[in-house]
Amino acid sequence: MSLNVVIMGPPGAGKGTQAERFAREHGIPNVSTGDILREAVTAGTALGRQVKALMDRGELVGDDLIIGIAKDRLVRPDALRGFVLDGFPRTVVQAKALDEMLTKRGPVIVVEIQVPDEELVRRVRGRRICSKCGRTVSAFAGDGAAIETCTHCGGELIARSDDSEAVVRDRLKGYWRETQPMITFYHQRPTYRAVDGAQPPERVRDALGAAVASALGKPASELSQSVAAKRESKA
Ligand SMILES: [Zn+2]
Repeated sequence: MSLNVVIMGPPGAGKGTQAERFAREHGIPNVSTGDILREAVTAGTALGRQVKALMDRGELVGDDLIIGIAKDRLVRPDALRGFVLDGFPRTVVQAKALDEMLTKRGPVIVVEIQVPDEELVRRVRGRRICSKCGRTVSAFAGDGAAIETCTHCGGELIARSDDSEAVVRDRLKGYWRETQPMITFYHQRPTYRAVDGAQPPERVRDALGAAVASALGKPASELSQSVAAKRESKA
């Protein structure tokens, strides 16, 4: 049985980072449909030209195209032992298609990283960019104290212009409108888990590991052991 994980979460919840890390730690690919689309456009492949034409006409990339991309990616040899999906599925149609793709490959484990909207707005409000080294840093230390200069190089911190509160609230509204039907679709399944994303990244990581293990009916330690063993037998 393969380790089929879907990670969901609002923009700013740290989903991408957690997905990437979980995939790396478990020796499975992190599949981001957004990345696949961007790379195809940059490389100018047949798919990329198709996507670019849609975007130039101001149209969204439809379910059929995205499902085709996911299907192609998930049958590649490296994904047969499992994968972490980030950005797919986005609609109930896509979620149903994913179920079909995985008929003989074990259950889909869906983990929703939950962070209250207000916390996401607060995080963005506190995001600064260093004028010297260009790193994005938080304006608040772990204890909540304000930070005046870059913790890496001492440079002056400036607010990021694209991070205005209105933009974030708008993005969140779009996210909930788009995603709520899918959460409803997955919610009642025994392999659905919610993880508290409003805690430090290390804790989220542990909670994510525990959530996936419990969805499989295994203790967290056993999950990491079996993956390590698989990785060894492959080497
Ligand atoms: Zn700096």
